[in-house]
Amino acid sequence: MIQDIEPRKFDITFKDMKPKNTDYALLFCEEFVLMKQPDGQERAAEFLTFNELNALEEVREVKKRSTYLFSIDDNKYFSVNIPKEKEMDCRKKVIREGKVLAWISQNAFRALKEKWLGFAGITAVQINRWFLNHRYCGRCGKPLIYSKTERSLICENCHITEYPKISPAIIVGIVDGDKLLLTRYADRPYKRYALIAGFSEVGEALEDTVKREVMEEVGLKVKDITYYKSQPWSFSDSLLAGFFARLDGDNTVTLADGELAEGTWFSREQIPVNQEEIALTAEMIRYFADGNDVFK
Ligand SMILES: [Zn+2]
Repeated sequence: MIQDIEPRKFDITFKDMKPKNTDYALLFCEEFVLMKQPDGQERAAEFLTFNELNALEEVREVKKRSTYLFSIDDNKYFSVNIPKEKEMDCRKKVIREGKVLAWISQNAFRALKEKWLGFAGITAVQINRWFLNHRYCGRCGKPLIYSKTERSLICENCHITEYPKISPAIIVGIVDGDKLLLTRYADRPYKRYALIAGFSEVGEALEDTVKREVMEEVGLKVKDITYYKSQPWSFSDSLLAGFFARLDGDNTVTLADGELAEGTWFSREQIPVNQEEIALTAEMIRYFADGNDVFK
């Protein structure tokens, strides 16, 4: 899965620190990150160090704010933000440098050759998106400031603390004997088979979310809800909890209007192989197809 970057070690512990020249500098323009792109290959993109970033004439003179994000092994990663009014100008100028540098979008991190770089990139994007969306206090409108003691933003006027946005969500593999229910979304670019998934609502335990989403999306009842694994999924600011559950009663699928295009029961042998290794959904489908007892 995307977070499995062994033997490298990810450390998100909060630190209030200044960057060194050899640390990684992720310059953001909106949700795009400036990266090196050897030979113009997007899949081979690499992060710049502060040395390399500050060597760029277009960036050197602009006022920047660097914020420590996390470490992977001994390498420290910082987000670098410039004033909003300078962003587009900076983005255009840096592109003129040639093909060696590129502004990378979050979806490109799914496909980087070095999987751990993709994980670092998308994790940084999630934290930066939270900065972008919380520049001001939602109650009084004053600028929020960065806490020096934890990863949070504070309004000094209202004493409100904003924490990073992480939305809990569930994925559930519904099992009927030797069969698993696979679905396809109607209106999303992702066209492969998936499992039922959805965000938790206020007041719900994760198991309640499982039951509600299954009923809403395919009109089925489930029992024996069994936890499998979880996964941070920064593409949608979420934390996914994967479950398997047994069908309880009638197996007739009734699709909700609009959301799903298909919901089909597949036996283990019929299940199509999904090559996208970074996603919990794909791992769960494979785990079932491989003949494992998902309820033990
Ligand atoms: Zn306020």
